[in-house]
Amino acid sequence: MNVDLHCHSTVSDGVLSPKQVAQRAHANGVSLWALTDHDEVGGLAMAEQTATELGMSFVPGVEISVTWLNKTVHIVGLGIDYQQPELIDSLSQVRSGRVKRAQKIAAALAKLGIEGAFEGALPFAANPEMVSRTHFARFLIDRGHCASMKEVFERYLGDNGPAHVPMQWTTLENAIAWIRNAGGVAVIAHPGRYSFNELQFDLLFDSFKDMGGQGIEVITGSHSPAQCLEYAHIAKRYDFEASCGSDFHGPEEGRFDLGSLPPLPKDLRPVWQRWV
Ligand code: AMP
Ligand code: MN
Ligand code: MN
Ligand code: MN
Repeated sequence: MNVDLHCHSTVSDGVLSPKQVAQRAHANGVSLWALTDHDEVGGLAMAEQTATELGMSFVPGVEISVTWLNKTVHIVGLGIDYQQPELIDSLSQVRSGRVKRAQKIAAALAKLGIEGAFEGALPFAANPEMVSRTHFARFLIDRGHCASMKEVFERYLGDNGPAHVPMQWTTLENAIAWIRNAGGVAVIAHPGRYSFNELQFDLLFDSFKDMGGQGIEVITGSHSPAQCLEYAHIAKRYDFEASCGSDFHGPEEGRFDLGSLPPLPKDLRPVWQRWV
């Protein structure tokens, strides 16, 4: 079964519309699919409608930005009721600081000799409320300042980069509670991307579990083969359900297309068992 439970549309920082992402997932052979835009559920109705028309099973999702130990952690919510007013309202609060932050990013880039980045990044964001580092990255690549996303994050926008503006997102506790109260399952996104030490990781996994979190991404476009194995072990150790998602943002970006991921190691409990 081809499962892809993590990807983005123009509703956040993807380049294809929810409808186009659904069509591409289907064309690539995905049979169980979730759209998980950052901090926004506005694309899920169209995604669901398109998936249904194509006969592809759909799981409504979201990827919530969290600040934990002063670092950003992403929590994917799967199987949520995306019409729940409390969830919609909470996510709108998470999004609210993005425009101000984007202006600060632009000011930092101006100091580094790159002018007009705010005005330059905005046209890349279909939803200005969701303006993100990804949109700045597309602007920087488009104007020839960098050759790739990788270079943008290494030189400018990565968590230790000179144009990184820290954000206070929501708490881990809130994100898990919002997801659970909307009937969903909380999943730690791409754990291999976080720069925590071993003690901090243990604390993250313990806290997540205590707060009602149930899943972890084992197979993701962000993980090397070694990291997939590492987080398969973690899933077993903490008795987490395992998830699998490309984190697809666009055809020209990232290493993995929709539905092109390796299979989950056999001895894990797939988070999607409840939907098949
Ligand atoms: P933001 O929510 O504005 O902080 O932007 C975060 C987004 O930037 C992530 O969802 C990714 O799409 C992208 N991103 C973050 N770090 C990297 C990286 N090292 N390489 C490529 N894209 C990244
Ligand atoms: Mn993203
Ligand atoms: Mn993420
Ligand atoms: Mn993502």
